[in-house]
Amino acid sequence: MAASLGRCLLVSLFALSQWSPNSLVAASPRPHAQPNGESNIVKRAVPYGELIYGCDVPGVIAPAFDDGPWIYTEDILDRMEAANFKATWFINGQNKDNIYKYNATLKRMIALGHQIGSHTWSHKDLATLTPTDTALQMTQLEEALVNILGYMPTYMRPPFLSYNQAVLDVMRDLQYVVIIGDLNTRDWAYQSATEIENAKQLFVTGLDQGFTIVEAHDQEEWTHGVLIDFMIQTVQQRGLVTVPVGACMGQSPSEWYRTARAPPPSGTVGIPLFLCSFFSTSPFFGFSFLSPLTCGIQG
Ligand SMILES: [Zn+2]
Repeated sequence: MAASLGRCLLVSLFALSQWSPNSLVAASPRPHAQPNGESNIVKRAVPYGELIYGCDVPGVIAPAFDDGPWIYTEDILDRMEAANFKATWFINGQNKDNIYKYNATLKRMIALGHQIGSHTWSHKDLATLTPTDTALQMTQLEEALVNILGYMPTYMRPPFLSYNQAVLDVMRDLQYVVIIGDLNTRDWAYQSATEIENAKQLFVTGLDQGFTIVEAHDQEEWTHGVLIDFMIQTVQQRGLVTVPVGACMGQSPSEWYRTARAPPPSGTVGIPLFLCSFFSTSPFFGFSFLSPLTCGIQG
């Protein structure tokens, strides 16, 4: 208990030391609407804990990259920046590397107008975990992102696209929009000079079919070396507009992130203890809606 409280205090103090008014980037300290449709501040149209395959907004596509950040990510950002290509990054906390080595990369993603979503802490197959461990996979990454950015995502994509109803129940309780996507390049399976052609073809075929939410992986060598440039060129040739996945769901950037969760409707999953401490001690989050926060993982 004492150790937990000490950790809470440390995390809170660290998070506060990182705070600046500009660090929120259009996110505001407010909860989203509850899944029952009742809202105390914001009306929400995108459901939590339900599988989403394609964009709601017509005329755009949402390229989304999983499993990073890693050594290729900055170079990919350079090429996207030059082409005004916008993407979503479903990141891990500990995959090929540790997220804290990429603080500047994450901040650059935000500055470039990209979106950061959760791909869990360590890329485990959530369908094999208990609900408590699934929740921990989410809240561990939240802790890191609160430390690095000052806020956490409202969008996630499950590793391996693997889920079951228990996983979706946790995502609903933790208030995550669950993205699957409809245009899977399967680039992870095509990592050679010749095989990456298959991923390029899947991208073209998917666009031809009108698919809109893309899956690729920025930590894959041939994705970095070949597929990214091909995607950028193809999008330019077709005059397609790329947007973060939150935008393609019709949500503003303030809805892609949160600094706090509203009380869980089912009561099965609570706010992680460190966040409870953080939000209840921070002078920036002293709003009345925070008072009913549930502290600690309950189920
Ligand atoms: Zn993945």
